Amino acid sequence: MSVQPGESRRHRVVVIGSGFGGLFGTQALRRADVEVTLIGRTTHHLFQPLLYQVATGILSVGDIAPATRMVLRKQKNAQVLLGEVETIDLEKKTVTSRFLERQTVTEFDSLIVAAGAGPSYFGNDHFAEFAPGMKTIDDALELRGRILGAFEQAELSDDHDERSRLLTFVVVGAGPTGVELAGQIAELSRRTLKDAFRHIDSTEARVVLLDGASEVLPVYGGKLSRKTRKTLERLGVEIQLNAMVTGVDAEGLTVKEKDGTERRLESQCKVWSAGVAASPLGKQLAEQSGAGIDRAGRVEVLPDLSLPGYPNVFVIGDMMSLDKLPGLAQVAMQGGKYAARQIISSIEGQDPAQRPPFKYFDKGSMATISRFSAVAKVGKLEISGFLGWIAWLFIHLLYLVGFSSKLSTLLSWTQAFFSSGRNEMAATEQQVFARIAIERLRAHTDGELTPGADGSGADGSAANGAGANTAPAADRKTAG
Ligand SMILES: Cc1cc2nc3c(=O)[nH]c(=O)nc-3n(C[C@H](O)[C@H](O)[C@H](O)COP(=O)(O)OP(=O)(O)OC[C@H]3O[C@@H](n4cnc5c(N)ncnc54)[C@H](O)[C@@H]3O)c2cc1C
Repeated sequence: MSVQPGESRRHRVVVIGSGFGGLFGTQALRRADVEVTLIGRTTHHLFQPLLYQVATGILSVGDIAPATRMVLRKQKNAQVLLGEVETIDLEKKTVTSRFLERQTVTEFDSLIVAAGAGPSYFGNDHFAEFAPGMKTIDDALELRGRILGAFEQAELSDDHDERSRLLTFVVVGAGPTGVELAGQIAELSRRTLKDAFRHIDSTEARVVLLDGASEVLPVYGGKLSRKTRKTLERLGVEIQLNAMVTGVDAEGLTVKEKDGTERRLESQCKVWSAGVAASPLGKQLAEQSGAGIDRAGRVEVLPDLSLPGYPNVFVIGDMMSLDKLPGLAQVAMQGGKYAARQIISSIEGQDPAQRPPFKYFDKGSMATISRFSAVAKVGKLEISGFLGWIAWLFIHLLYLVGFSSKLSTLLSWTQAFFSSGRNEMAATEQQVFARIAIERLRAHTDGELTPGADGSGADGSAANGAGANTAPAADRKTAG
């Protein structure tokens, strides 16, 4: 199929990605005399900063992931296409995307690329099977299933070592996501699940936050890092710093200390929040335009966020590298709005050489540690504790997309923070098994099935991966 919005004579803008950059860029074009085609590989926009609350049973999927076409339904100059962009041809000005077997070629006059980033395992991609990252709704639901499944399995086990492995949760990476996740797993075990089991004491679960750096939240450093550490320890989180993960398998991790010694950490449920790598589309763009690419795969853009030689192509958000700007929602949102303004100015006749450079307005960053406690840094101002938490609450509500999302989130928070209850404590078998099953299906389709990938391997390690967290051994076959 070939989509040609240019059948009318309006300027055609294609936006790749329905995250912060893509959505805000599209919305900023709502009054422009253009036709916008937003291509996203998911049907929804995603408020990633609250993913950890979906993973730990506080929020539902709908609270943080409104359907993109519903958000844009009143924007008459925008259409939404579902599909994974596979290729961008800068010379032909086309974007080729695929949804299932259907390929779509979309022509553009201007292009905004906002395909974001995924987890990085620093060359150890095989860790992903047992320690998935948390970037998508699927990741969060899988993690919820793995956390709750580990408690369920521990309740059934009579073996001391097995119980202890099942009740050890390891979060790799002590940045904002790792801190928030570790804090919430601790609260889940100490408050929400307290007294819910008869054979185990959920409050004795071990939550380990591990990082190769020498402090938690290294981006903040100093006082805020120390306060975060103290609050986490009060919650019962065990912090292990200067510790590099050198191996991950179904039953635990191998950790290398600063002095070079290696040790083993037995844990069934592990989650990776240690690094990010930009969308592989960045490499394509760099190769075609001659732009540089940094170690995280981000494209080195010009000061107007465009590619060298292609003033009509903008790369924004987590995919761009400019002035050491961090991977934050605000950078992406402001980048999307800026790119939209430059497109409008170009249509009005402005020479791209006259564009003002992109200027990021730093509104600060923050992380929650537990209920009623957060840390925030706005310029030189540092806030922590309850005040930080109020600021966190207000900002997150403000930026959630849609009034009903704000309302239902506020209700869920009221329940989670003022009682021990959480509304979203269900987990299904499919949530836990789907990723591995899909990966195997893809391997079959690609003809790359390796021995053991169907769960019949000699050591059964594949079948013992993420899925093993909830299913008793006899049931595992069904997931393969
Ligand atoms: C768990 C977590 C917590 C975070 N917490 C915070 C926080 O507290 N504060 C903060 O400021 N930032 C936070 N961030 C970072 C913030 O979410 C990102 O910086 C921001 O989302 C970047 O926006 P983006 O538009 O560049 O990418 P994204 O928002 O990631 O959007 C990328 C979009 O592109 C789509 N896509 C990707 N590849 C393709 C393809 N090939 N074809 C079609 N579509 C594609 C994706 O599906 C997605 O819709 C967090 C991130 C995570 C993962």
